[in-house]
Amino acid sequence: MTDAVERARTVRAGALRQYAEETASCTKCALAKGRTHVVFGSGNPDAELMFVGEAPGFHEDQQGLPFVGQAGKLLDRLLEGIGLTRGDVMVVNVLKCRPPGNRDPMPEEIAACEPHLFRQIELIEPTLVATLGNFATKLLSGRPAGITRVHGQVQEVTLGARRVLLYPLYHPAAALYTPSMLEVLESDFARIPDLLSRAVEDPAGAFPAGASPAGASPARARADDLAALGAAEEIEAVQLGLF
Ligand code: URA
Repeated sequence: MTDAVERARTVRAGALRQYAEETASCTKCALAKGRTHVVFGSGNPDAELMFVGEAPGFHEDQQGLPFVGQAGKLLDRLLEGIGLTRGDVMVVNVLKCRPPGNRDPMPEEIAACEPHLFRQIELIEPTLVATLGNFATKLLSGRPAGITRVHGQVQEVTLGARRVLLYPLYHPAAALYTPSMLEVLESDFARIPDLLSRAVEDPAGAFPAGASPAGASPARARADDLAALGAAEEIEAVQLGLF
């Protein structure tokens, strides 16, 4: 890893940690009253691939970490199936606090919380964003089409100032007890490595002409970075160090 890449990684992790600390006392919506923890997110701050779920459930609220219950175990298994671990990716939710009884997020809660998600995307700069389920998909695609219609269909979207590839997937919690949905989720998941290398190797795909900073390609720098990293332990250390 070059010094410049190392410095950039440290700056990103620091900025994300600081933002997590600020978010820990958020009172932008009524969910603040009933929560145990703000569930900011977990994973690798330098991840190319970001998963966006819906909202913390009981266990996530208790532990302050996303996807630690049954749906999280399935997510781990799906990641393993494509040769990845939580230490390779970033996992966040649309809502950072648990809705009572795990009810659906309300529009005013999404509106209050979305600046946190957009700031996370701005700081992490993923090239591929996989949305899990309806709420994340509708929010980040800006379209009303439901997950049953759009799962597995890659879209190019602008999130903040960046063009990214959006990849809608069924929510693992929905697939847990529906074998046919699990099969679809597994086959959609299987395309992730290819999409990831497309986004990394073809910066124009993720950063079309004019959108890439002059003289530098974030995606290219990230490809070098990932190649230099290699060791899973090193990625794990970054993960554990952050959240
Ligand atoms: N479901 C989600 O959408 N997010 C979590 O963190 C856990 C379950």
